[in-house]
Amino acid sequence: MPAAPPPSDHLKFLGTAGARHVVATQVRHSGGLVYALGGFRLWVDPGPGALVRALASRPKLDPARVDALYLSHRHLDHAGDATAVLEAMTGGGFKRRAALFAPGDALEDDPVVFRYAQAFPARIERLRAGGAWELAPGITLATPLAHDHGVETYGYRLTAPGVSVGHVVDTFWMDALAEAYAGVEVLLVNTTRLQGGDRRLLHLGADDAERLIAAVRPRLAVLTHFGMQLVREGPERVALAISERTGVPTLAARDGQSLPLPPPLPAPHPGEDGREGP
Ligand SMILES: [Zn+2]
Repeated sequence: MPAAPPPSDHLKFLGTAGARHVVATQVRHSGGLVYALGGFRLWVDPGPGALVRALASRPKLDPARVDALYLSHRHLDHAGDATAVLEAMTGGGFKRRAALFAPGDALEDDPVVFRYAQAFPARIERLRAGGAWELAPGITLATPLAHDHGVETYGYRLTAPGVSVGHVVDTFWMDALAEAYAGVEVLLVNTTRLQGGDRRLLHLGADDAERLIAAVRPRLAVLTHFGMQLVREGPERVALAISERTGVPTLAARDGQSLPLPPPLPAPHPGEDGREGP
């Protein structure tokens, strides 16, 4: 086998599933996503199967080399494998290292990271509106506002040399979203339904995603966290329609996709951006 190319900054989608039916059937995987930024690795929202997806991915993602774990909120599709991943990150708990970022309600009553494992990371930070933390020199994480999702929920802005990413995780539409994520180059949007506006579900629809993308106008928008409606409709078609109407290049993430950071220009076209590996 040829030697692996040198690692470069990228974002790997270990899964693109959103909500119960897609997770339960695994028509899309629910491993969350992993950033590699200058040797620093951040794993976001490891749902059911995340550890297996990481070990099966090519190149294999070694959890022992992941430096931080971020849980946007306590729902199963975001945190089902949190304890398993944290154990793997910390040598089964024998190696106190890495950082855990999570809302307080994910760690306290009925915790989604088991209490015994909360002793494993070297650092635990409770997410809050207006929070900002340095992950490593030059890499910062910020949680601009609390989302409207029924449980304590935070999206984030991640800034590293040469790139800024905003990730709008699960939420009902809020006018404040556009300002909170303004200025990012890459905007990820958890687009769970075709249409939002249903307060029983508290998820964004593709209509909301389009409105947000049109307002933020990032260099690249990426839809992910698809519910069954989106999977049936075809996330690529939905993303293409948003690209055409807003003029903002918009992709639908695919399981196993690795997106170089910063993303290449012109916007990656569908045949080239879904390859495995950095
Ligand atoms: Zn949720």
